Amino acid sequence: MYQEELIIQEVNGAPCEIRMTRKNVKRMTLRIDRQGNPCLSVPLRATRADIWKFMMSCSDWLARNVGKREFFTLPDRLHDGDEVFLLGEPRKLMIRSAARTSMTFVSGAAVLYLRDAGDPEKAASAYEKALKELALSVFQERLSRYADVIPERFGMPRIKIRKMTSRWGSANQTTNEIHLSLFLIKAPLDCIDSVVLHEAVHFTHMDHGTEFYEMLLDRMPDYKQRSTKLKEYARK
Ligand SMILES: [Zn+2]
Repeated sequence: MYQEELIIQEVNGAPCEIRMTRKNVKRMTLRIDRQGNPCLSVPLRATRADIWKFMMSCSDWLARNVGKREFFTLPDRLHDGDEVFLLGEPRKLMIRSAARTSMTFVSGAAVLYLRDAGDPEKAASAYEKALKELALSVFQERLSRYADVIPERFGMPRIKIRKMTSRWGSANQTTNEIHLSLFLIKAPLDCIDSVVLHEAVHFTHMDHGTEFYEMLLDRMPDYKQRSTKLKEYARK
């Protein structure tokens, strides 16, 4: 049976309850659950001192992520064999040594290459960097499929990736930019397309009026179903 207890730690100047579970695991893992609460799993034999040391090393990550849904967080440590969520699928992360940081993925797995493959914190930052590059190339490729809805004078708007948690994207005709949330890369392609197309249509209709939805639904009749599916994914 798993033993569960609550530990209290100060986060952003307020006491925060962290649910700790002792499990038959090799290492400590801190994550944010669906309700935005931190959960810590620790090996059965971890000592108070081990746990305290680990929690101190996580305090910055905790301050940034408490209250957010798991979907809108990225891990602060990654180990070979950990699970990551990418393009709507859970994937086993394989961490390998290479001179340059990059990531490739196949069904069920993602391979992250970096110089210090054995350092979990460096792996987490390399993963974030690789994820941004992947997001940019995927979003650009998807946008090119909807280029026909963008008036010619804009050409192809520049895509910028931001760690947005309150909205999926925004479009700016003045700067000719589309900003998209990095976390969108965790969603399936059909959901990504619904956001990309939504922002592309804003280059014709800036508000969310009838004409905006007419153009959007004309190009993507199942837009609403895709939006609902995306919301469901983000609840994870
Ligand atoms: Zn909009």
